[in-house]
Amino acid sequence: MTAQELLTVRDLAAGYGAVPVLRDVDLTIHAGTIVAVVGANGAGKTTLLRTLCGMVPASAGQVVLAGADLRGVPVEEVVRRGMAHVPEGRGVIGELTVHENLRLGGLWRRDRADAARALDEVYQLFEPLARRRRWHGHQLSGGERQMLALGRALVARPRLLLLDEPSLGLAPRVITQIMALLRRLRDETGLTVLLVEQNVHGALSVADEAVVMSLGRIVVRAPAARLRDDESLRHHYLGF
Ligand code: ATP
Repeated sequence: MTAQELLTVRDLAAGYGAVPVLRDVDLTIHAGTIVAVVGANGAGKTTLLRTLCGMVPASAGQVVLAGADLRGVPVEEVVRRGMAHVPEGRGVIGELTVHENLRLGGLWRRDRADAARALDEVYQLFEPLARRRRWHGHQLSGGERQMLALGRALVARPRLLLLDEPSLGLAPRVITQIMALLRRLRDETGLTVLLVEQNVHGALSVADEAVVMSLGRIVVRAPAARLRDDESLRHHYLGF
């Protein structure tokens, strides 16, 4: 492990029941970077995030976070060790208020005082949430729900944020705001982000590096700017 290596994945395999999805996945993520995971529908991007955080059990391989092997570690302990997952569809609970949803993000934290501080910071970061703290999840717009899901993950003070399709169903203006926010969190707090996106342009505009997945494997890794600007590379791996 180098000084800034935050996540190391080796030979990871996983699937659903007898159906294999991920194969031979190797991935290194350095602290303070945004890595985009792109690729066709069904390539295994969502399954990769689920396997990293332990929601889907790995059938082989290793996931090492800040030097510690996460094999067999329960999900709540994975969160305590600094990995937070914002699932596709966001997982906001519609029947709970904004404040209650945010408090869930601190559920596993032992340092209650810092969890409360983190919650205040989220309200500063997302001013619309502060104004709507008594609203229920189902009363929020799509963009506000995405803010809430992100905010809830941030209350856990993650070192690594696993973000699944944050731009799904959002207006272009809101997508731009979310991408700008990720950049700001990286720059100001050193947050590391693994970002799964169908919106390839958005993802490559914010990411430092990109990996392309196909049929459960990582087929290429490159600086995001290179994948964005090199037409032949993009055409070969992304088909446009
Ligand atoms: P998308 O962008 O469409 O979500 P993806 O790259 O995230 O695609 P996954 O959702 O990881 O891909 O799906 C990879 C494969 O696993 C697909 O063949 C999918 O049908 C299958 N799969 C996903 N979730 C499940 C599940 N809960 N049970 C069984 N198979 C699943």
